[in-house]
Amino acid sequence: MLLAEPYRIKVVEPIARTTREERERFITEAGYNTFLLRSKDVYLDFLTDSGTSAMSDNQWAGMMLGDEAYAGSRNFLALQETVRRYYGFAYMVPTHQGRGAENLLSRILIKPGDYIPGNMYFTTTRAHQELNGGTFVDVIVDEAHDATADLPFKGNVDLTKLESLIARVGPERIPYISLAVTVNLAGGQPVSMANMRAVKQIAERHGINVMLDATRCVENAYFIKEREAGYAGQTIAEILLEMMSYSDGCTMSGKKDCLVNIGGFLAMNDESLYQRACELVVLFEGMPTYGGLAGRDMEAMARGIVESLDYDYIAHRIAQVRYLGEALRAAGVAIVEPIGGHAVFLDARRFLAHLTQDEFPAQSLAAHLYIEGGVRAMERGIVSAGRDDDGNQRYPKLELVRLAIPRRVYTYAHLDVAAEAVIQLFRHRDEIPGLTMVYEPRILRFFTARFEPIAKPEADLTRAREASIASVH
Ligand SMILES: *Cc1c(COP(=O)(O)O)cnc(C)c1O
Repeated sequence: MLLAEPYRIKVVEPIARTTREERERFITEAGYNTFLLRSKDVYLDFLTDSGTSAMSDNQWAGMMLGDEAYAGSRNFLALQETVRRYYGFAYMVPTHQGRGAENLLSRILIKPGDYIPGNMYFTTTRAHQELNGGTFVDVIVDEAHDATADLPFKGNVDLTKLESLIARVGPERIPYISLAVTVNLAGGQPVSMANMRAVKQIAERHGINVMLDATRCVENAYFIKEREAGYAGQTIAEILLEMMSYSDGCTMSGKKDCLVNIGGFLAMNDESLYQRACELVVLFEGMPTYGGLAGRDMEAMARGIVESLDYDYIAHRIAQVRYLGEALRAAGVAIVEPIGGHAVFLDARRFLAHLTQDEFPAQSLAAHLYIEGGVRAMERGIVSAGRDDDGNQRYPKLELVRLAIPRRVYTYAHLDVAAEAVIQLFRHRDEIPGLTMVYEPRILRFFTARFEPIAKPEADLTRAREASIASVH
């Protein structure tokens, strides 16, 4: 039985279907890079769940109550009150989005030569740590790097790795532990409450702070309720508050679990940390009572935080992601297990076993998924991994295509269409060619790199076309 939508639709945004011929032209023009497609040419946009949520009528009503005073806006006070109540932190500065909060936190706490342990890196988080002279050290459990390991809490910290880092470099070289809940790059995998409690105990023993990357903390809370003994009877809000209590503060990208299109914050309990954040936020974002956001944006985020803790909302959100993953799994498509909180990840290594990693299998799969069904996904493999400091190509273990599901945006019928496109592609996967990179930007190349397909014998192409004409559009 489907867990039906806990909302009805009041405003619609038309999306256009395109023909296969048009899509072939568009992806060629975009250099086989889904980031370079125009949004209007995409039917189902699963590029990211960041800033793509649908706001509620209550949030839109709140937008009309924006108090756009330069200082002391009532919407700031509402947001501060909401963060206190549901996240339990005494202090909060708004930022334009999550990386704004990461910038402030990293500048305040990290000194050159410091080490920051974390449960798998995230791109912007690590970039800010490194920019301030810190070194990120991955202390996630080994299984998180294995697409087939099916564990309930695959985002957990390996406590032995954490303890041995502390012993090796000394607690004074570790300004804080950076704990992400859930872990995006591991496939949206959660951290257990027991693990968070244990990390906090170790940190306290050594006088080290724990700072959460709370971006997807509500999804994490749902998994705790579902999977961890003793939590089935607790509300999402109660679980969230306990999770936060095992930390000293958090960075937040409101564009994910706070259900807004823009916004974020840095929250903490320590007053002197708050004072330093107030000093810095003026330089990078704006006054401590708006931090780069309009009053209306803060109001929408305050209301989104409350809505995100509704059980029916989060249960449906996770059910949608699971629905897509299970449809693919049932057809034999290789996905990252278990299915995570915000996205389904295709394992391009197994999907396109005839390609070498140098032929950019995940990039090619994402491009061909667009050609097949107008579905936009994101490469998370060798292209995203880029080169090391010496210019050598990095070869990541995971070669993935991410289908991230926006919150409250698509229906199960849309997910059926997306699943069918993937399955159709899977049936003629042998005919999907590798790619060559014809333009390689020097930094964060995945955003703007351009590719061309490696030439295929004409017979294969004809067969591929015939197979897909019979399929979905
Ligand atoms: C998106 C994201 C961020 C950065 O947030 P932005 O709002 O995009 O700046 C940080 N951490 C994680 C885990 C994220 O997914």
